[in-house]
Amino acid sequence: MTAYPYEVHEYDVVVVGAGGSGLRATLGMAEQGLKTACVTKVFPTRSHTVAAQGGIAASLSNMGPDHWQWHMYDTVKGSDWLGDTDAMEYLAREAPKAVYELEHYGVPFSRTEEGKIYQRPFGGHTTEFGEGPPVQRTCAAADRTGHAILHTLYGQSLKHNAEFYIEYFALDLIITDGACTGVVAWKLDDGTIHVFNAKMVVLATGGYGRAYFSATSAHTCTGDGGGMAARAGLPLQDMEFVQFHPTGIYGSGCLITEGARGEGGYLTNSEGERFMERYAPTYKDLASRDVVSRCITIEIREGRGVGEHKDHMHLNLSHIPPATLHERLPGISESARIFAGVDITKEPIPILPTVHYNMGGIPTNYWGEVLNPTKGSPDAVFPGLMAVGEAGCASVHGANRLGSNSLIDLVVFGRAAAIRAGQEVDRAAAVPATNKAEVERALSRFDALRNASGSVPTAELRLEMQKTMQADAAVFRTDKTLAEGVEKMTKVAAKMDDIRVTDRSLIWNSDLMETLELTNLMPNALATIVGAEARKESRGAHAHEDYPNRDDKGWRKHSLAYVTGNKVKLAYRPVHLDPLTTEAEGGIDPKKIAPKARVY
Ligand SMILES: Cc1cc2nc3c(=O)[nH]c(=O)nc-3n(C[C@H](O)[C@H](O)[C@H](O)COP(=O)(O)OP(=O)(O)OC[C@H]3O[C@@H](n4cnc5c(N)ncnc54)[C@H](O)[C@@H]3O)c2cc1C
Repeated sequence: MTAYPYEVHEYDVVVVGAGGSGLRATLGMAEQGLKTACVTKVFPTRSHTVAAQGGIAASLSNMGPDHWQWHMYDTVKGSDWLGDTDAMEYLAREAPKAVYELEHYGVPFSRTEEGKIYQRPFGGHTTEFGEGPPVQRTCAAADRTGHAILHTLYGQSLKHNAEFYIEYFALDLIITDGACTGVVAWKLDDGTIHVFNAKMVVLATGGYGRAYFSATSAHTCTGDGGGMAARAGLPLQDMEFVQFHPTGIYGSGCLITEGARGEGGYLTNSEGERFMERYAPTYKDLASRDVVSRCITIEIREGRGVGEHKDHMHLNLSHIPPATLHERLPGISESARIFAGVDITKEPIPILPTVHYNMGGIPTNYWGEVLNPTKGSPDAVFPGLMAVGEAGCASVHGANRLGSNSLIDLVVFGRAAAIRAGQEVDRAAAVPATNKAEVERALSRFDALRNASGSVPTAELRLEMQKTMQADAAVFRTDKTLAEGVEKMTKVAAKMDDIRVTDRSLIWNSDLMETLELTNLMPNALATIVGAEARKESRGAHAHEDYPNRDDKGWRKHSLAYVTGNKVKLAYRPVHLDPLTTEAEGGIDPKKIAPKARVY
């Protein structure tokens, strides 16, 4: 027995995570009178959603003709035909409603002259099922959309009496007779342990960008929900699909917008060559994100990287007049100064393709209910557990996400989870009793890590994992790099058994917290590289040099990774091909979304 006393809390619903998805779910649950707690390791408005600038997609038609079916088509094509059709229909159909709700809750959207919500163009969003001109579909609150959404949803959740447990770190799920019945958490500022018993637990813990060396994601994006799900024996879905943005600042990973190249910026290698001209003679530096990211990677591999380790590239803006830089790219100038110590009017910015988004996650249906596929029933639901936001995989982004489709995913599926919980959770029923054996299991794992006295410091092992993932589960993959990557990551993950934690305290112990986060990053990273090694085709973000084409016959299926320790077992489940509604019911013509080559 471990000697940790704990406080017990009882709720109808416990949401883990207070980003856009967690807050939208929390608000929806509380609005329906469910006794709801939101447990979060950072203050709600510091969740990574706060960094989202560009905006949120919905076919409002405020700037010109648009239709939910066009949004659905773009999403299907963007997903490279790996998304679940019913979920993608739900997303596109419900998006306008979800945005208007945000407006009514008080999100300060930018406005048109007539006072309507302003919408801007974004990559991959078109009209007429990809045949017409680009559409202005992305609703924005200036360049602070995520910030505005978080503040509004937090205020509304408080108004509806949701209870917040802030700076509580969720350790593990409590599983009782094949259902989730709660979660165990560690309060960071006083070291106490808390058991939350609940009829429904919602994982809204965000992505795992920090499995890589260079990520635009916050340091808190450590895939804790995926880690908890994996430890509960649940699969992670489509983890091989990781979106890279070509220009993150080397080292910090802070994002430099595509607009920098739009304003005339260009990339150079160690020979000062504008190498994109060789790969993409027409669009050069403005080829699509995945193409540019791949070219940078080839240059580095062939020894033409810049810097001491020849491991990054230069983005040049100094030929652009300072007045233009000041007017059009003020934020970039500031980011480059702070994060790279560079004056962009004089020097190039060191950049590296940077992990930006995880398409994969905990598999769910479009109600956010977590799936536990079994033989013969690939859509079986795991009772008592939901997952929303970047932690989940509904799956609407399939093999590649379109810009501004994540923020809308957060609110549409956060809202859907609340609607479902409102129907499923019996308010009159008793809250499940404390499962002492499960709590003890979670706490003995916690205690073992707290006292871990091996030979590998957490920071060292994390760096090794990040470098391995960056090198071998990259933008650009081959049988050789992936096989090496799987071998290396298997060894790296095994070193978890030899981890060393030096700080034994229970209060504000960042050494221990980062170790717990590493135990969560590790299964996410392993699932990613093993899933990638197995997938012998190229689809969306998974660009496999040895199999350059998409193979719908062999591979139009979701991968499921079951991770135990440093071992991964793979299985597959079929993609949902049927839309929610038939054409007669007002749905999309199935012929419109039949697979074809993905060209833009
Ligand atoms: C720089 C940047 C810009 C972006 N811009 C856009 C954009 O313009 N448009 C768009 O659509 N998408 C954008 N994205 C993607 C989008 O912002 C994210 O996918 C989305 O915000 C994720 O939201 P979330 O609710 O899933 O999780 P997050 O916002 O990451 O929140 C996770 C929450 O989980 C909590 N948590 C995690 N682990 C634990 C634990 N163990 N215990 C307790 N709590 C825990 C955290 O405290 C936090 O509250 C951008 C992403 C980045 C990184």
